[in-house]
Amino acid sequence: MIVTKFGGSSMADAGQYRKIQDILLANPDRRVVIVSAAGKRFPQDHKITDLLYLCYAHTQYGVDCSGIFDMIASRYLAIRDELGIHLDLETELAALKARIDAKTVTQDELVSRGEYFSAKLMAAFLGFQFIDAAEWVKFNFDGSVDLETTYETLKKLVWPDRGAVIPGFYGLMPDGRIKTFSRGGSDITGALAAAALDADVYENWTDVSGLLMADPRIVENPQTIPEVTYDELRELSYSGAQVLHEDAIFPVREKNIPLNIRNTNDPEAPGTLIQERFSADHNPDRFITGITGKKDFTIISLSKRGMSNQVGVLRKVLTVLERHSISVDYVPNGIDNVSVVTPTEALAPHLYTIMGEIQQEVEPDSMALHDQIAVVAAVGRKMAFRPGISGKIFAALGEAGVNIRMINQGPDELNIIFGVDNKDFKTAIRVLYDSFVK
Ligand code: ASP
Repeated sequence: MIVTKFGGSSMADAGQYRKIQDILLANPDRRVVIVSAAGKRFPQDHKITDLLYLCYAHTQYGVDCSGIFDMIASRYLAIRDELGIHLDLETELAALKARIDAKTVTQDELVSRGEYFSAKLMAAFLGFQFIDAAEWVKFNFDGSVDLETTYETLKKLVWPDRGAVIPGFYGLMPDGRIKTFSRGGSDITGALAAAALDADVYENWTDVSGLLMADPRIVENPQTIPEVTYDELRELSYSGAQVLHEDAIFPVREKNIPLNIRNTNDPEAPGTLIQERFSADHNPDRFITGITGKKDFTIISLSKRGMSNQVGVLRKVLTVLERHSISVDYVPNGIDNVSVVTPTEALAPHLYTIMGEIQQEVEPDSMALHDQIAVVAAVGRKMAFRPGISGKIFAALGEAGVNIRMINQGPDELNIIFGVDNKDFKTAIRVLYDSFVK
């Protein structure tokens, strides 16, 4: 049994609904379908979820949102009419609009309606059972998912002999209110359904043919990553590559269910397979799985003579940052100096207070700030215990005239991370890609 999830661009218009139908018909094991709200049909278009948030914001400021609501309603009505689906959406849409006007609908409930209407339409189109996420995705009061109840409930709801369509992105709080996951959360709903039903595979259908080895805005036509482990995926997404909602990994990983990223617009492409480990190496010459990175980090570095003999210096620095809820990404250090690397955006509002507190509590001999730093990560499970990879990376960067500001590698050797100036970010990624992938 395969659980499938279709993202916003796969749900954007009637043509996409037809593609989904073909994908499901091509493999009858694909019986459970999780859907997102309608996404963009073309680059300047709007996502339904964004419009719903916008609609809610209008009402908060006492501004009429009828125009936006009409845009939302007409997108769904157009899909229904073009596909000739017999479904009365008007009554539910009107009831929702009345509640918006009366201000009796919460933000979470309102934005969840994008997925809800998508699923209603898709279920009617396919002739599948509609299962509301509010019936089985149950949150605890702290916002975590009550996995036991959630899994047990879904198992009971699904009819074995008929396909089911489920809206992604939301569930129910213990007090009966609707709560959404964070943005992109339909991935989580799909993962929960796959785990609940012990699916053989969780297919996550989107608009790219899997994870790419590098950002296509930087590297022209990067190759797809055919196979990636969960650990590598975690490194890749932490360092910048965005494909899946982070919290979508846990439920399927825990149950050892492979996750397959697929492209609705290119259904023949095998996409990317993500699982705990791979027994065979299909690509023995490829040591690097992916190259990713993020710009805009700030490095605070401090020196203090004799620091190496003092206990507690690093703790004091980290305590100051913790007090301001700043998470530290890397801590490169020398003998008598230590640096902390953090995202500039989070640090900026507290920067001078933090510098002042470090000055007072650590009393360094000198302190310096370096910003406009980009962090680049080469990720690959096959780099471990293979000498020469970092040599090749740094030689290639040196030849390209890229100055390295920081280096970081964990003992598990799953990644090699280095900092460069923001201005060298794209060059660094291209150089790495060209020296390892060609
Ligand atoms: N529609 C929601 C969003 O845009 C959730 C999702 O698509 O996964 O964030």
